[in-house]
Amino acid sequence: MPRRIYNFNPGPAALPPRVLEHIQAEFLDYKGSGMSIVELSHRSKLFEEVINDAASRIKRLLGLRDDYQVLFLQGGASLQFAMVPINLLPAKRSADYVNTGTWATLALEQARRLGRTIRVVASSEDREFTYIPRDVAVDPAAAYLHITSNNTIRGTQWQTFPNPLGVPAIADMSSDIMSRVFAPEPFGLIYAGAQKNLGAAGVTVVIIRRDLLERVPEDLPTMLQYSTYAKSNSLYNTPPCFAVYTVQLMMKWLEEEIGGLANMGATNRRKAILLYEVLDRSGFYRGTAEKESRSLMNVTFRLSSESLEEIFLTEASRQGFAGLRGHRSVRGCRASLYNGVPLAAVEALVSFMAEFERKHG
Ligand code: PMP
Repeated sequence: MPRRIYNFNPGPAALPPRVLEHIQAEFLDYKGSGMSIVELSHRSKLFEEVINDAASRIKRLLGLRDDYQVLFLQGGASLQFAMVPINLLPAKRSADYVNTGTWATLALEQARRLGRTIRVVASSEDREFTYIPRDVAVDPAAAYLHITSNNTIRGTQWQTFPNPLGVPAIADMSSDIMSRVFAPEPFGLIYAGAQKNLGAAGVTVVIIRRDLLERVPEDLPTMLQYSTYAKSNSLYNTPPCFAVYTVQLMMKWLEEEIGGLANMGATNRRKAILLYEVLDRSGFYRGTAEKESRSLMNVTFRLSSESLEEIFLTEASRQGFAGLRGHRSVRGCRASLYNGVPLAAVEALVSFMAEFERKHG
């Protein structure tokens, strides 16, 4: 048996062993082709089946109607910060953004850098992004409303999404897509880098409502137009074949082994509750996000001093727990509990934390 540790990395992150074993088993000879998935033509029938199956599973899992299309792009979620406004925000209009932390800030800064007019309609910057703002007064004439569904660094997550009637919502769901059930109706576009809940790094999934494709300016560089990917089944140029394949396998695992988003959501909730209970039990660990905004995906916490945090992280690492260091911009600790992290890993972490508290509390 290969050595596997408890992986709480923020992304790239843990994938289910079943998925990794599947990749391993067919890596040298993909479905009798005599070639590896990384050696096949992206124009082959075999790869076409992979990309189509990945897209259909995403649509089924999210319960998307046919007016949504799933696209596979490169450039990470970071490129979407710019692609969203250049495709969907005409120079004469304005868009509304909610600022809930680092990634949301980067998204709105990219729109500004492109000379677009945006309004920050709500922000949690006043309390160091430790909560999700409640009142979001959207301009009915806005081209869209942009939110970040889960704030990977600060450990906050929208519990219910705003529904700005008539204004399409756009969400960066990089760190919580496929983690729970939600109603897709308010969304005109959803994007997510694959490397947390969807598969391997290298592909970005964009889900777009087809009517928004009509906004794409004709004079944009071809590779920056959403319509290029929509028209070509994301095969205008060579896509990141291996990464798309990992998305297909993750979605197959989620549908066939987990049984869909309701089951995944229930497990994710159990995982997070276990950990938040430890944080709330005594004053030894302190959760950094306000309770009603807590993320089920990234649990952020502090200990009483930075030196104790260092001891905690060193000891955790010695006992086989990886990825618990908080983001370098905020420090502290963070456990990322994405779909690929099993309940057993969280149970092990919770016992480790209790034991550490007994020793150092
Ligand atoms: N948005 C969120 C919410 C993220 O967590 C991240 C990465 N951690 C990004 C965007 C940036 O993603 P990428 O590295 O794929 O550009």
